[in-house]
Amino acid sequence: MTTKRVLSVWEEDKLHIPVAEVDPSNPSTRDIAMDLIDTFRSSNYLVGLAANQIGYDARMILLLNNPNAQSCYGDELIIVNPTIVDMSEKMRGGWESCGSVPRTIARVKSPIAVTIEGYSISGQDFRRSLTGFAARVAYHEVNHLDGKTILSEGRPVIHAGLRRIKKCIGDMNRSGEKLLEQSV
Ligand SMILES: [Zn+2]
Repeated sequence: MTTKRVLSVWEEDKLHIPVAEVDPSNPSTRDIAMDLIDTFRSSNYLVGLAANQIGYDARMILLLNNPNAQSCYGDELIIVNPTIVDMSEKMRGGWESCGSVPRTIARVKSPIAVTIEGYSISGQDFRRSLTGFAARVAYHEVNHLDGKTILSEGRPVIHAGLRRIKKCIGDMNRSGEKLLEQSV
């Protein structure tokens, strides 16, 4: 088991650079997938993860297979060379945080529906349409692979201590706004 540190944009410029596609049949692709899963499971705050967040120049992401469950470790989905091939014209603003942008939340416009294509870890064609929260997470993670974060996608950005962020989240929840309480 290899748990990697989630890199921060404050210390790693590479998070702003698009990453390379990978060969699904290469054994190293499976190793990267295992590191994504191990790192994801060792955290108690992530809801998705991109390979470049843990230092790999590899176009791979981890999503939850069942995005409606708050905790479903063991049900992770690895997508190799993911591409968003279709998305709704309608965009919706929502507050997001990110494991690579500590102490920050940002208002990000994200499509309410996306269709994502790529490959499974076993090299099978993968295609899935996602809506709502799952679409937001998938969009966020694919953006990571394209070198974009909530700093490039979102506004305004709030830099704050954890207590301040929790207060913001509480305030926004009370006002009924859609919010990502966890990081992606
Ligand atoms: Zn992120």
